[in-house]
Amino acid sequence: MTPGDGGAPPRPVARPPVRYARPQYWNANTLTWWERLYLPEVLRGLGITTGVFLRNMAKWLTGRRGAVTTYYPEERRPDFAPRNRGKHVLTQRPDGSPQCIACNMCATACPAKVIEIEPGFDPDDPAHPKYPVRFEIDYSRCVFCGLCVEACPEDAIRMEPDVPDLVATDRYNMWLTMDEMLTWRPQADVAKPYPPKPVPLTLSPSVQRGRAPSNP
Ligand code: SF4
Ligand code: SF4
Repeated sequence: MTPGDGGAPPRPVARPPVRYARPQYWNANTLTWWERLYLPEVLRGLGITTGVFLRNMAKWLTGRRGAVTTYYPEERRPDFAPRNRGKHVLTQRPDGSPQCIACNMCATACPAKVIEIEPGFDPDDPAHPKYPVRFEIDYSRCVFCGLCVEACPEDAIRMEPDVPDLVATDRYNMWLTMDEMLTWRPQADVAKPYPPKPVPLTLSPSVQRGRAPSNP
């Protein structure tokens, strides 16, 4: 039967209900009837919190150490995780100059846009003529994400686990300079060593004599 031919509309076909198999999570809660009452468990949680609070308060009032809190920067902890992303380091070439080639990839990748690089040009070094004249990071805005380290193609920038002396009372004093990044914890074990800078070719006197045009 088609619409418009005057007959009754077709009745929808009854289908059996679909039963989906819901996933069973490994940590799915199985509550007892006591826990399903909720209120006793809420009161039990409040009791635990209050007990910890009173215990720590009693310790502080009697001159002992309470909750384990580090009061940075007055207190420093030495136990940073080995892969913690802390202070930046610029690695060095064998002659002590920065390994950085001022390619700007770290500054481009930086989500906070806090890296400023001013490149220089050394025409006497054809293998790596660009170098950073100025390389600074604004630590008042750095989010310590490590993307600059990952973006660097030269292993020129790294992050040490610890974070010494990062606090300041003036955000304009929180610029990390190139000198500090080179000298704070000097590192020259780069994964991509540079070829040494070429030295001008000098011929020995005997070779020069041999090359001199002979007298007629
Ligand atoms: S750690 Fe992140 S925010 Fe800080 S300079 Fe590197 S890329 Fe930028
Ligand atoms: S630190 Fe690395 S990515 Fe950044 S400018 Fe230098 S060479 Fe390029």
